[in-house]
This record gives sequence, C-alpha cells and structure tokens, in this order.
Amino acid sequence: MFGCQGKVLRVNLSDGRISEEELSEILVLKFLGGAGLATKYLWDSVPRGADPLGAENALIFMTGALTGAAAPSTGRYSVVFKSPLTGIWAQANSAGHWGVDLKRTGFDGVIIQGISPKPVYLIVTDGKAELRDASHLWGKSVSETTQTIKAERGEKFNVACIGIAGENQVRYASIMNDLHRAAGRCGGGTVMGSKRLKAITVIGTKPVNIANPSAFKEAAKRQFKHLNDHMLKIGLEAFGTNLVLDLVNVRGGFPTRNWQTGMFPEVDEINAIALREKVLVDKKTCFSCPIRCGRASEIRRGAYKGKRGEGPEFETVGAFGGMCGISDLEAITMANYLCNDYGLDTISTGSTIAFAMECYEKGILAKSDTEGLELKFGDPNIMIELVHKIAKREGIGDLLAEGVRRVSEKLGKGTDRFAMHVKGLELPAYDSRAVKLTGLTFATANRGGDHITGYVQGPTYLDVPFLVVEESMIEDPLVENVKEVKIAKDMEDALTVFDCAGACKFMGMCLATEEWIDLIKFGLGWDDFSVTDFRTIGERVINLARVFSVREGLTGADDTLPKRLLEEPLPEGPAKGHVNNLAPLLDAYYLLRGWDKKTGKPTRGKLRELGLEEVIPLIWD
Ligand code: SF4
Repeated sequence: MFGCQGKVLRVNLSDGRISEEELSEILVLKFLGGAGLATKYLWDSVPRGADPLGAENALIFMTGALTGAAAPSTGRYSVVFKSPLTGIWAQANSAGHWGVDLKRTGFDGVIIQGISPKPVYLIVTDGKAELRDASHLWGKSVSETTQTIKAERGEKFNVACIGIAGENQVRYASIMNDLHRAAGRCGGGTVMGSKRLKAITVIGTKPVNIANPSAFKEAAKRQFKHLNDHMLKIGLEAFGTNLVLDLVNVRGGFPTRNWQTGMFPEVDEINAIALREKVLVDKKTCFSCPIRCGRASEIRRGAYKGKRGEGPEFETVGAFGGMCGISDLEAITMANYLCNDYGLDTISTGSTIAFAMECYEKGILAKSDTEGLELKFGDPNIMIELVHKIAKREGIGDLLAEGVRRVSEKLGKGTDRFAMHVKGLELPAYDSRAVKLTGLTFATANRGGDHITGYVQGPTYLDVPFLVVEESMIEDPLVENVKEVKIAKDMEDALTVFDCAGACKFMGMCLATEEWIDLIKFGLGWDDFSVTDFRTIGERVINLARVFSVREGLTGADDTLPKRLLEEPLPEGPAKGHVNNLAPLLDAYYLLRGWDKKTGKPTRGKLRELGLEEVIPLIWD
C-alpha cells in the first residue's frame, strides 16, 4: 500500500489488550484516511447510544493518506469520537509534528477503547506498542507531562496528552501535541481523560512509501512555488491567523460582548499588528509547511510579564477578546497559555465565559453564585480567574465546565436566546448576520458550531477564489442567495478531503483541486483519480458522519442557529439591522445534499449513490 502504512493499532484499555489490524485497501479507496477512515472505524466500533464518557466510546487517532509525505503542509492528524459536549459525531484536528511521528511508527492510526482501571500512557515505536503506568503524570499540566515523558523516554519522543481539564472532565477539554498544538474542539481531551489515558508518545523511523516519487516530487515542487507567491500565504506568514480580525470587524461581524454587537471598538489593541508589536517573538511552522502561520510569543509587560508560549490565534483572540469585551492582549495571550497547559479548547472556554458575563450583566448570575466574583465584560482578571476555575472545576467553574448549552439549560430564564452554540458546540468568531452563507455552514457542520467545515468567509474579503470549489465568489454577503448554497456544499465536501489527506485546509484556500489530485495520484498510485472522485470522498465522509449523528438522535431541527442570530438584528456597523434568515438556504442545501427535508436524514438514494448501503437499515425502517 502506498501513502498509508497499511496497519492500525487497537488498544483496549479495560483489559490492556493491544492488537494490530491490517488496513483494507477498499476502505482507503472509499475514505482516503484521517477523519474519513476514523469515521468509518467509529461507525463500526461504537454502538448506538454509547455514553461518550463510557467504555463503549472510541477515541480514534488517524493520520491522513499524505501525512508525512514531502508536500506542502502534510503534517496533520484527526481524532474522531462521540462528543461529550454535543453527544454526536465529533472530529478534532491538529498539525505540528506528532501525526507524522505517529505514522513513522508504521501505524496509520490508533483506536482507543475501554477504560483503564488506573492512569496509563501509550508508547508507540517502530511496529510496537505498550502501555505504561501514568500515576506519576496524573494531575500534571501539558508542559509537565510532556517534559516528564521526554525525560523518561528521550527527547525525540513526541507527546500528545491531556492536562488537568481532561482529567477533570471539563466537557471541552483538548488533546495537546508538540506542547502548543491543539486537537481542540468537541472534548476529545475529555474522552481521553474518561479513559484514564494521559498521553500517547510516539517515535518511528518507517518512511511513507510514495507510489511515484519523482512525479510526486515535481508536483510538490510546483505547489511550494505557487504557494510562495500566494497572497494568503504572504499574509498569514506576516501576521498569523489574527490577520482575519480586522477583515471581520470592518464588516461588522466580529462577535463582541457575547455577540451583542459585531463591532469591537478597541480593535487596534488586539489585531494582528498589535500582536506583532506586543507579544510576537518568532514565526512557527508545522511539518513541511511554508506558510508558517504559528506565532512564538512572550508577554513583555504587565502582570504576566516573562511568560512565554505560542499564539494566540485569531479564534482565541475572538473568544477571549471580542466575546469577553477584553482589549488587553497580554491577558488574552495569558488565557491562551493557560488553556494550552490545562488542555482546554480556547473557543469553547472563551465563549462560555462570555456567556456567563452576559448572564451576570442581566442579573441571572449573581455574586452569590460566583464566589463573590463580578463577571463583568472587559475585566481581564476575572477572565483569567475563570479559566483557572473551569480547568479545576472549582466553584462557578464547575458549572461553566459544562459548556454554554448545559449552563443555559441549568439556568433557564430565557438564556437560550443568547446561548451561542450550535448542536452544543460553542461558535467561532464570525458573526453570521454579517455573512449570511456562514450561518448556513454553522447550522449544517457535522460537529456543530464550526467555521472550518465549510469556510465561506474568505472569498469576498480576500478577493481570491478558493480554488477547491468551482465557483466561489459571494456576490453580497448580506443577502441570502440560494444560488450560493452550492459554494457552501462544495466547500464542505472539498475541505473534508483535507482532513482525510492529513493536509492543512489553508492549502485548500491556496491551491487548485487539480494540484491535489496529482498529489493523491502520484502519492497513492491511483492513476485514474479524478476531481469527481476527490469531491465524492468528501461527500461520503460528510454523509457517514451525519448518519452516525442521526443514529444518536440528531434531526433536521438541530440544523439551526442561536435565537440571537435569527431574531436579534445587529445594532450597528455595516451589517446593522441584519439577522439570519436560514429557511431558504436550508431548503436549497437539503435538496443539493440529497437529505430528507422532514427528518434531516440522508436519503436512501444518496446513501446508495455513495456506496454506503450498509448503513441504510440503521437509520431508515
Ligand atoms: S498553515 Fe499554519 S497551521 Fe497549517 S500547517 Fe502551516 S503552519 Fe501549521
């Protein structure tokens, strides 16, 4: 087998059994690898109704078909599981080098099942795996865990682990690799903690076999050259992902004070230029990536002076900055460092704090609920204090560790109007009232409120087409145009393939589909692989993930947005007066997807067309 290593590890933590399984070539043809393959294993491994925090749930780490191959940005891995935050299919994804190091052990992925009676960590080396006692690591932070494992095993061992947030079952705990890189969303770290698996450490020497090395090298060379001249690459390298902030704010869509407005008045204090001036130390990159969008940083003034780490990324600035009404970039950077070390998803953490601040503003939470803390928008000290409390599940942090949806359900009193989540996943920092098509992608993304399942912000403000879709220009972001629904669907299908290939989605915004076809053709030896095959893989994975969630109780009624976005017009800025009108876009989307309008289920015909016949009896009578 080319591209893939052809083997996966299965680890049952309940009895300590470790086994190897051959990877079927048919599965690779259908799902490519990464998130696609992991979704298929999840479907086969996890029974209907499994408790996300129970022994029946599986946590599946899977590298992509091109992870570790020498093409641009091919260093990613996916983790797929049933989410303890949303109760449905979930994927988190990360780069750095850990995925490449896992693949070099000779295994494409690791399927974790069961619950260990005591804390353990997994060591995977060339063709071998063993479990070790992790009692001495339990209670340690991400940095302490990583350093301790490296000191014990050797500096070259790469570590993916959880911090105390995962141990404490904060519902949005992340899995951290390479110290600062996060498979952040949906609570993968929570599932890992429930299984008492503290870390997976990997090192290997097995190369990734490429079917046609010279043609692959030429195709990769073309891509590197093209990327070097690309406007998006130049911007991301110079400013990092926070480049996006001004572009979103200028459109009136930067969620501010828990989405009460889309205009942040002190944007110059937290934007990309501020980040460069205040905390940037150097650019950082992931395996084989010329974009270098990562930021090494240091806090140079104030209460946290001298602290060092990486980030913050745009989404982190959005969650702790705009959403919490905070313009203190040093405090935002500190919150980011804390989340990385506790193992917390920054989007869900910042969003949940912002929601609590609005509850306090409205008198729904009082000092008597918060150990005397005044949860006021704009207070950086309170925000930092709440990050600590959430990770430790201390006081009010115990409630906030449940995420926005559960906090709102517990508090009642109309808080659902401003509980900013979709399907239980807290939303990223793009107000969809300012870009209507984004509302559709939030409502339909398989893992819940998510911006990178179908990223439809960029085409209009960057003025460069996303080359992975045929037609990508949005005429007017403030108009619900049903003709543009195809952009959202194509984007979702195409970007899903990147999660299967193990490549960064930024490549999907810079390079043509045909270039990717060449890499897959030459890398895997699939001479006839076409653009249609590429899109079909994405569509198949999206449908299987949907079927998994339908089996767990998801219906079309869940494809919606928070009431604030549907009913509360933006009060100022270029999108003033706008709300999301989802219904016409959803109707057009269901039609394009081949999903039943009444139930939200993929139709039998669609599932047959995608070669997923075997799942039909499980969701259709
Ligand atoms: S674009 Fe950024 S996140 Fe993606 S692989 Fe490159 S450095 Fe990593």
